[in-house]
Amino acid sequence: MTLTAKTVGQIATFGVRQAERGGKTSLRAQPGTFRSYVLAVKIEAPMTDRLYYRDSFLYDFDAEIREAVENPRPALILDRSAFYPTSGGQVHDTGTIAIADSNQTLRVTEVSDTEDGRVVHYLEAPIKEITPGTRVHGQIDSTRRRDHMQQHSGQHVLSAAFVRLFDMHTVSFHMADDYCSIDLDTPTLTKDQIEAAERLSNEIILENRPVEIRFVTREEAGSLGLRKIPPAAPTEGGAPGFAGVAKPGRGNELRIIDIRDFDLSACGGTHVNQTGQIGCILLRKAEKVRQGWRVEFIAGQRAVATARRDFTTLTEAASLFSAHIYDVPQQVRKSLDEIRSLRKQAEQSQDELATAQASALLAETPEANGRKLIVRTFSDRDLNSIKLLAQKLTRLAPHAAALLATTSPQPSLVFAQSPGQPFDMGSLMKEIVAKLGGRGGGTKDMAQGGVPKPDGIEPALVELAKRL
Ligand SMILES: [Zn+2]
Repeated sequence: MTLTAKTVGQIATFGVRQAERGGKTSLRAQPGTFRSYVLAVKIEAPMTDRLYYRDSFLYDFDAEIREAVENPRPALILDRSAFYPTSGGQVHDTGTIAIADSNQTLRVTEVSDTEDGRVVHYLEAPIKEITPGTRVHGQIDSTRRRDHMQQHSGQHVLSAAFVRLFDMHTVSFHMADDYCSIDLDTPTLTKDQIEAAERLSNEIILENRPVEIRFVTREEAGSLGLRKIPPAAPTEGGAPGFAGVAKPGRGNELRIIDIRDFDLSACGGTHVNQTGQIGCILLRKAEKVRQGWRVEFIAGQRAVATARRDFTTLTEAASLFSAHIYDVPQQVRKSLDEIRSLRKQAEQSQDELATAQASALLAETPEANGRKLIVRTFSDRDLNSIKLLAQKLTRLAPHAAALLATTSPQPSLVFAQSPGQPFDMGSLMKEIVAKLGGRGGGTKDMAQGGVPKPDGIEPALVELAKRL
């Protein structure tokens, strides 16, 4: 880069800003044609060298601290790192960073990247007196990393299978702690298509095809027939976190994940070396979403763990029915049918019982003022049961009024009268529940209410009955 003396001020300002952000800038004066000198300016961006770009199985590494941050959360920025920051659908690694010549080992709980390409390692606890330049040793949680590799490589295989079989393209990928999902750009998705994609994916895994990382230019990528090409990086040599595919310091190059003779994708994630390391792929729920169909899947050890959990659940259900696990749906259907039929029988019996009780109550109640007034407080009936009784009473007798209540399980009241009787049960109910601290209401002929405590219900009913 050559510049005239006129722009030196601007360069100096830029250099200071880069230095402030952890970058290194050197200005070197050279003899030139311009009046005095032409300046050769070399600017090194403060990006973190991402070691996982070249080796997904690198679980520990040596590095140097660039920055130690305390606010808003303690964090470290290193010159190089094997920690994967959350991006491109894949979640971050966890692990530790041990400080050289010190007994400090810091737990890394979250990793993210900045727009200018630095990897930020968030720490569990604050850092004690650390200066830039200090040597450190990073250690990745390998079980978690291996799981992420299985899920992410599994996703590439599965997405490619949907394209090969049905020309269905993946528009997004999501990795959660317990399951993963892809969104397919398709208006329909059948059970047979899901099973076919699952079968082809597992065949590709079984064939143990090599999975290679390659770096190509955007122009080369155009002729390779990639399943997915991300949009161009916003700046020259910039933002490696962008779509996770541009390699730092290598301009507008793309990182390609090549599953031999099956899939080529631009991707910045961590991947297995051979498809066999994915283990297996299990497709789960599929549901219609706004932009197509969402398919949940799990790969590798996660798939085995999930199948184990399914089996345990199914076995528990089967033992409740003393049946084989494959007969559980049939047993559940049978039980539901039985419940439905028993419920119907119970309703019929309750109806008959209410009719009989209403007849008995009417028979034992003498008529006064041209009507029969039934006042009863029960101690073990639900609201529906006293409601049914009130209906029977007012239907069986043309001149009846009923003030019924129950004290448990829920203290409740039901007032009713035969059509044509002169009272207003709705307002009487409102009056009494207000007195007892509850709520209720209804029509002129039928009202119900609930109160917080059973105390006082019976005397209140007796008091009311005297006025009717
Ligand atoms: Zn990917």
